[in-house]
Amino acid sequence: MVVSRGLCIGAGQCVLSTPELFDQSEDGRVLLRRQPDDAGQARVAVDLCPSGALRLATGRSRAVVDEQDATAKGWG
Ligand code: SF4
Repeated sequence: MVVSRGLCIGAGQCVLSTPELFDQSEDGRVLLRRQPDDAGQARVAVDLCPSGALRLATGRSRAVVDEQDATAKGWG
């Protein structure tokens, strides 16, 4: 699970669908509480996220990337 806080628009769909994995900071942007136990657990939130801030990824990816990283990757 990789989260780009720079892409997050604070819609909160991830928190509503999977509160055990996601939370929101005071500015409304997503926080990753922990990595999912399996891809299925996170896929619902990935599919619901309107901004593309959530992504399923391999274990070598960092869990949280900033806005510059996301832009450099052409992600979002
Ligand atoms: S659903 Fe997407 S845009 Fe909404 S808070 Fe979660 S990561 Fe951010």
